[in-house]
Formats: sequence, C-alpha cells, structure tokens
Amino acid sequence: MVTANGEWWWDGFRHVLPAAVLLAIAAIKPPITELISDSVGWRGEKRRNFSVNSAYAICSNDTNVPTDIVWSILFKFRGLPRVRSFLWMCYRGCLLTKSERNRRYLTDDPSCSICGEAFESISHVLRGCGAARSIWPCVIQRDKIAEFLSMNVQQWLLLNLQEPNYFPKVSADWDIMFGSLLWLLWKRRNELVFNPNVCGLDNTLQQGQRMLQESLRARSPVRVGRTLAPWQPGLNVRWRGPSPSWIKVNTDGARSIRSGLATCGGIGRDSNGNWCFGFSRALGLCSALEAELWGVFEGLATAWSLGFPRVIVEMDCHDAYEMVALGNPKQLGSSLLAGILELQHRSWEIKFNFIKREGNVPADLMASLAWNDPLEYRRYMVPPPIMLEAIQFDRDFDPADMV
Ligand SMILES: [Zn+2]
Repeated sequence: MVTANGEWWWDGFRHVLPAAVLLAIAAIKPPITELISDSVGWRGEKRRNFSVNSAYAICSNDTNVPTDIVWSILFKFRGLPRVRSFLWMCYRGCLLTKSERNRRYLTDDPSCSICGEAFESISHVLRGCGAARSIWPCVIQRDKIAEFLSMNVQQWLLLNLQEPNYFPKVSADWDIMFGSLLWLLWKRRNELVFNPNVCGLDNTLQQGQRMLQESLRARSPVRVGRTLAPWQPGLNVRWRGPSPSWIKVNTDGARSIRSGLATCGGIGRDSNGNWCFGFSRALGLCSALEAELWGVFEGLATAWSLGFPRVIVEMDCHDAYEMVALGNPKQLGSSLLAGILELQHRSWEIKFNFIKREGNVPADLMASLAWNDPLEYRRYMVPPPIMLEAIQFDRDFDPADMV
C-alpha cells in the first residue's frame, strides 16, 4: 500500500474506505520498513503501554479527551484564576447544581429554583435558564446559536476555550469573555436564589466586559514606578535568534476539537530573524501530539532539502520535545518518529529546543494557514502577508528593552 517513493498508494484503497478512515490514514506517515516494524500498542497512553487508569478514562469519559489535555487547555486559560477553577468544576461535572445535590442525597428536589425546570443541570444553569438564555444570543453568531446551546457540555467548554473564532460574534479574547460570563452567570444565580432581596445587580454582559479588562490588565507587563518590571527568562518568553551559521526552525501543530482535523506548520529563520522558509500542511485526522510531530518532521525535511547544515528545531509541545530529543521510535512504534530519527542521523547538525507557546506565534500562524488547504505540503519561500507583523515582532526583540 506504499509506493516506491514512500508515499501512500491511494489508488490501491481510496475507493474501498470511508472518508473518515482515509483522513486518518492521510495523517499517518507511511511505515519505513528498514527502520521500524509493526508492533501492538495501547491507544489510551501516549507511550502505548496499557494502564488501568487510561482504560478507566476511556470507559468513563464520553468525549475521549484525556484529562491531562483538558487540564493543559484550562491551565492555558488567560482569565482570572478563580474562573479557571470554576471551569474545571464545570468540566468535571461537580458544580453543585440541584440535580448534582440530589444525586449526592443533599436535597430531594432536583428542579430549578428559578424557572422550575425538572432538572437543574450544569447545561441548564449555564445555557438554558433565565439570564443565560438572554445573554448568549447577544454574543453568539445567529447561525451557530442552536449548536452552541445544545452540544455536549464538556465539548462545549473546550471548543469555546480553544477555538475563539467558532461561535462568537467578536472572537478577540473570547476565551476570557466566555469563562467570565459563565462564572458571572453562576454567581448571579446564587445571589438570586440565596439572597433574593439584593437589588441593583449589574448587567452580566457589562460585568463580563469589566472582568475581561481586569484579566487583560493582570496579564500585561507589571509597571514598577515608571519602568517595566525586570525581564525574567521563562516568564516573558520571546523568540531568540540562533547563532550565526545556524538557522532556527519553529514548528507547531494544531487540531480542531470539533472535527478532529489537524494541521502543522513552521518557519525557518536565520540569526537576524530573516525569513529562510515557511511551510504548512493539512494532515487529516490525528491527535494534537501527532500534529506537533508532523511539524517537526516537515521542518527538518524542508531544512534538509534546502541544504542548511546546522538547524535548531524549536517547538512549544513538551511531550513532542521529549519524544524527539530522547525518544526511542522502536518503543513508540511510530513511523513519524522513525522518520524524524532518520533525518536526525544524516550528516548535519541538529538540536531540539523547547519554547513556551507565547514565543512560538509565527509557527502557530503557519499551521493555521493550512486549515482550508487540500491534504498536501506547501512551502513558502517568501513570507505570506499574515506573517509580516509576527516576524517583525520577533526580530525587534532585545531583552534590554524589557528592563
Ligand atoms: Zn431554570
């Protein structure tokens, strides 16, 4: 099923398999038989070893999103910490709504205290009842509102936090606004139920805007007197150019929670931050980690084909970094990792580096270019217009500026 060039022989099986399976195959690198043989692995763990923990997670979790991925999404939430904790409780279903209190034998009555709905569930509290019902149509696109109000709560939370362009009318800082509105709806509801005499409740949308501004202020560099707080490595992470004679290739992968489709992309730059090349690739159906590894593979393959002798590959996914820097492809059973290892062993110098997500924005932008592409690799020898600002931002950087 693989051609002499090492590509999938699509004509051999395209007509017999459904589209979803073809999309999943497209995201698998064809096996390199000289480097790796087939082996059995457990899909519930990144390292393919069976564990009871992962088996339980698969059995009990409808969305099939591993807890550590959910936590990493919530950990990156840019809003206030109390809102992050609240979102985690919503995701885990442990918000003490009346149906949850009923389930724990804390009350006989699971119905909504405000509108009388039979079950006061998390979905009802945050989407179906009172203020929630009137707020969402103001901020969600009209043609998406039905989907917004009806989808599985866990997927709904993750989709809003991860894909700010999907539901809202205004996508800027939607993750913060969304979390803040949920938190305010819950808080306001408790005030109404437990302290009905309180009056002068602000408009929830206006309060949401204020919380958004508060969150953004909290994230901006701290001013001490008239100067900025000292630059701290690891806190304000910015891209740094490689030494002269090296290039740095920043890579990234992206995956849509809603569709499962993934892309990867990257950008090669010299010591002055000048554009050497960029690439993007629509991958098909695969995990976020596989998309990251595809980014590394294509980054290395591009740099090799263009003849660069010294290459630093930098990525923002720590799992991918550990796998390529330390991984044993035989243990991991991945043809993609085997391909990366084969590229590593050619006669050139390669280093791997980890950078925080905030410093890897250009690679993220390159990956996003492929969302509407056919399933193929694209190379950019000149920067697309969307990249110009991000490249200039990295090029201007001097840590002394921040002191
Ligand atoms: Zn209600």
